[in-house]
Amino acid sequence: MSTRSRVAAIYEQVRMRNAGEPEFHQAASEVFESLQVVLERHPHYADAGLIERLCEPERQIIFRVPWTDDSGVVHVNRGFRVQYNSALGPYKGGLRFHPTVNLGIVKFLGFEQIFKNALTGLPIGGGKGGSDFDPKGRSDAEVMRFCQSFMTELHRHVGEYTDVPAGDIGVGGREIGFLFGQYKRLTNSYESGVLTGKGTAWGGSQVRREATGYGVAYFVAEMLEVLGTSLPGRTVVVSGSGNVAIYAIEKVHQLGGTVTACSDSSGYVVDPAGIDVAVLKEIKEVRRARISDYADAVRGASFVAAGSIWDVTCEVAIPSATQNELDSDAAAVLVANGVQVVAEGASMPTTPSAVKVLRDAGVAFAPGKAANAGGVATSALEMQQNASRDSWSFDYTDERLAAIMRGIHRRTVTTAEEYGRPGDYVHGANIAGFIKVADAMAALGVI
Ligand code: GLU
Repeated sequence: MSTRSRVAAIYEQVRMRNAGEPEFHQAASEVFESLQVVLERHPHYADAGLIERLCEPERQIIFRVPWTDDSGVVHVNRGFRVQYNSALGPYKGGLRFHPTVNLGIVKFLGFEQIFKNALTGLPIGGGKGGSDFDPKGRSDAEVMRFCQSFMTELHRHVGEYTDVPAGDIGVGGREIGFLFGQYKRLTNSYESGVLTGKGTAWGGSQVRREATGYGVAYFVAEMLEVLGTSLPGRTVVVSGSGNVAIYAIEKVHQLGGTVTACSDSSGYVVDPAGIDVAVLKEIKEVRRARISDYADAVRGASFVAAGSIWDVTCEVAIPSATQNELDSDAAAVLVANGVQVVAEGASMPTTPSAVKVLRDAGVAFAPGKAANAGGVATSALEMQQNASRDSWSFDYTDERLAAIMRGIHRRTVTTAEEYGRPGDYVHGANIAGFIKVADAMAALGVI
């Protein structure tokens, strides 16, 4: 069988065995496109069912999460943890609490996480979890009871050497606190390394909260350097207004760029003077309110309820809201408006047809598994600090993060060149991540 038909046959099998999981198919197909050339050069990577094993999670846990709301009504949600691959280290990846969460979404995220984590160069495997619980509009007490119920089941599956969850959409410092508290109570042990994204007073790392957003900004700076330019004076649009978006905006501003728009699920705001991060944090982190409040609070800013944030002209676009938020129409508008760089802050926010539009137009495009790896990389730094009962300063940790992002950028660019597609960050990230994991899997035998 030719390499092409071999890869196609494995992909077809993945689609059949995982019916009704379109996001997972999308994530797998993107990696498979890059595998072709690797297998042509190194056919041994297809031996011993390595690719088939890589596509199948090592373990998938689905559980009931019952909890009682403030008025005494009982709700039942579904909890997930997909422990995808532990060839490089304990399963590592966030928990997402959002009504759209289902097994297919968790599998797509877990699959991406394997390659992202490998790219960081740190000893972490890939996993992901979450629930279809919607924290929006819920009181702190309700979120606490939900987290306690969730951890009551999850605790038997995680551990500092087994599986180390963290945050993702809908899971931030508050939720990690409740989850850690319940884990500590159930196990009667202060095992800091079981979760990352903890508060700095109780085992968390400096810069972890900022890390995904800061990391994307560092990555964009590297991409611009390749293009012979830099962030100062550049106009940037960042979709979303959650943890990734807020700190991407903060760091882009520190590096001299101007972010003129950001969004939430209700619409987007434009502020030609540059988004005021202090105001944004007050609205989103303190009050957990809608983005339209920004336009009420800041003179010169406007709120747009309908329409696409990608209509706002920019040189750099950082989609940081959720999967498949930037489609081919939006990509065409970005290209027409002169975008030069698109870097994914979220996981898989750009549809495959949008990636094609950007690629055909010669726009530098960085996939999330490279550009947003700063969050999980800093989680690995948190694990290091927990293991040695140490805590590092903000500046030292930030320098480590910046160096890791430069390393990921370099590895991605060199691998793309080596495999015949210079400038193709998707290809470079997929191949560099794959080779690292595949070498470890091959060494560990058929397990
Ligand atoms: N959910 C984040 C990611 O996708 C963070 C994961 C982690 O820190 O473990 O990379």
